[in-house]
Amino acid sequence: MEDALSPIASLTAAERALLDRTRQFRRDVAAPQAASWERARLVPREIIREAARLGLTAIEVPEALGGQGAGFVAKTLVAEELARSDMGLAFSLINTQNAASRVARQGTQAQIARHLAPLIAGERMGCTALTEPQAGSDFPAITTTARKIEGGWIIDGEKAWITNAASAETVLLYAKTDAAAGTAGIAAFLIDTDGPGFERLAPYGMMGGHAIGVGGFRLAGFRVDEDALFYPPGEAFKRALDGINGARIYVAAMCCGMVAEALRVALDYATRRHAFGKRLIDHQGIRWSLVDVAAELEAARLLTYRAAGVIARGENAVLAAALAKKVAVEMAGRRLPQCMQAMGAEGLREEHPIGRHIACARIAAYVDGTTEIQNERIGALLEKTYL
Ligand SMILES: Cc1cc2nc3c(=O)[nH]c(=O)nc-3n(C[C@H](O)[C@H](O)[C@H](O)COP(=O)(O)OP(=O)(O)OC[C@H]3O[C@@H](n4cnc5c(N)ncnc54)[C@H](O)[C@@H]3O)c2cc1C
Repeated sequence: MEDALSPIASLTAAERALLDRTRQFRRDVAAPQAASWERARLVPREIIREAARLGLTAIEVPEALGGQGAGFVAKTLVAEELARSDMGLAFSLINTQNAASRVARQGTQAQIARHLAPLIAGERMGCTALTEPQAGSDFPAITTTARKIEGGWIIDGEKAWITNAASAETVLLYAKTDAAAGTAGIAAFLIDTDGPGFERLAPYGMMGGHAIGVGGFRLAGFRVDEDALFYPPGEAFKRALDGINGARIYVAAMCCGMVAEALRVALDYATRRHAFGKRLIDHQGIRWSLVDVAAELEAARLLTYRAAGVIARGENAVLAAALAKKVAVEMAGRRLPQCMQAMGAEGLREEHPIGRHIACARIAAYVDGTTEIQNERIGALLEKTYL
């Protein structure tokens, strides 16, 4: 069913075509294979290349540079659609697209020439590395250092919980050039992962969601050239925060996509399975339970689409993004198990996505700011907004 509340009508013809290709890819490729990727704890690179051929690694890259030139609302809808079958894959692809988009928009000519085409083609995967073993929510507390030397920099430190770390070849890495300067001493470097002193750590085993390829890196005396500097000290911290509201909104959209698919799967089952002489859906207890799922899903979607519109118009999205992420994440945490419950034991089977979605809803509660950090953002604006 086409979602009557979605902002599809606001998309350009090219953006709609991108969304159609995404839907086809999701149904033909991701839906049937997601369970096997979970078992293997890996998405084959050929699948990434296939997604790249459809434009999913270059959604916001300008057309003039080989991308799709799509806007933020289209990106949000792509995220929602992909996550219906695999939020891990959705997050992985969008992280590569984010790296490509930053290179295209903010890179030097040399950085564009070196990194952009392989990212767009899915030949290289990208990642953004802020988090460290001792610093997550408190990003300014990172301790990875970048020391200036003649003609370049020496980087030392460790990164943890990085999406695509299992396979990424291009890393936007944040490090401190001056530990005493606070956030003004943070810089970002665009690096290749194949030099001496770069160690890729084993990917993490989690309760689920392994298509996200999360893991870490250790850098010991890792030397990069002068032109690896992507954001200089004084600029990097602000640039890192620039993208955070958008990220919160597409994570909210992913939560909506997972719940929409779980509801569809549960409804499909409840209209075919019989108990006590009638269809499950004809038992008021089951029907009302799924009504609650649908109602809260649509409320979260409206917050998410509203927030996407705020970003698309270039307005301040701090409150809209935090509200959308908090509500959508908590909605998914409550409503996915409810969809599973409506299916009885059948809902546990790995060929249904709901178990993977429950694990990914937990992931959504941490990435791009935990729910507590969303509370902090909303809390700081309570009096200004509601008093
Ligand atoms: C699957 C996955 C993928 C990820 N991908 C990336 C990535 O690509 N790049 C990257 O840089 N990072 C990534 N992260 C890391 C993510 O950004 C961090 O997990 C997140 O910032 C939280 O940090 P933490 O896990 O260290 O928790 P901590 O910061 O240690 O927090 C622990 C708990 O304390 C709470 N807390 C912390 N501060 C406050 C406060 N001020 N008030 C109230 N409560 C607070 C938190 O909400 C949380 O509940 C990823 C994480 C996961 C799980």
